Amino acid sequence: MELFDVHTHQGNLTNTIYNLKPNLIPPDSGNYSAGLHPWFLDANWKNKLEEIIKLADDQRFLAIGEAGFDRLRGPEIVLQKEAFAAQAELSYRLGIPLILHCVKGHDLLLEFLKSSSKIPNIIWHGFNQKIHLAEQLLEFPVYFSFGKALLQPESNASQWLKACPLHRIFFETDDSSLNIHSIFNAASLILGLSVNQLQHQVVYNWNKISNRKIHE
Ligand SMILES: [Zn+2]
Repeated sequence: MELFDVHTHQGNLTNTIYNLKPNLIPPDSGNYSAGLHPWFLDANWKNKLEEIIKLADDQRFLAIGEAGFDRLRGPEIVLQKEAFAAQAELSYRLGIPLILHCVKGHDLLLEFLKSSSKIPNIIWHGFNQKIHLAEQLLEFPVYFSFGKALLQPESNASQWLKACPLHRIFFETDDSSLNIHSIFNAASLILGLSVNQLQHQVVYNWNKISNRKIHE
């Protein structure tokens, strides 16, 4: 059984969503996500978005992302908000989730969620925020992807995983060199559920929120 890794920067693995580099070149095989990461946004972003739209019919293109907000790195917030809104619109239109990168931008996400009428399913990747911030998001179609922070039992991520509704969870390796099995194993210990049950859950979760289905 290949465990489902919703967000990774390692290519050529099966049952993963490989996040394309800024050059937007899809891998030879396997599923991928493509987006405008806030770190790499510049005045040319609309042209880059056109390149992403050209990939839209490829059924291996499973998610928009990483897209989002970063107050520590990247261009001015006005530009980040514009680029995010455009990508959220694309995600909504294609019926595929948006993988969120969010650093010190929780308020910007909430502002978007409260003011937009067409909100896509959003997966906050590498989630490691305080529980009360996570709870504010539950009234919206926001999902949580847990990664290496689960290896620390006291992390915010580990605490939130215990409280988070199961239909909102995903797991990821992101840019770490970890194997996705170690993340599932950590989650299994925290939740008292088997790795099999968790795999079944995340595949179910994905297929519920995306037009582009995955198989177990
Ligand atoms: Zn990443």
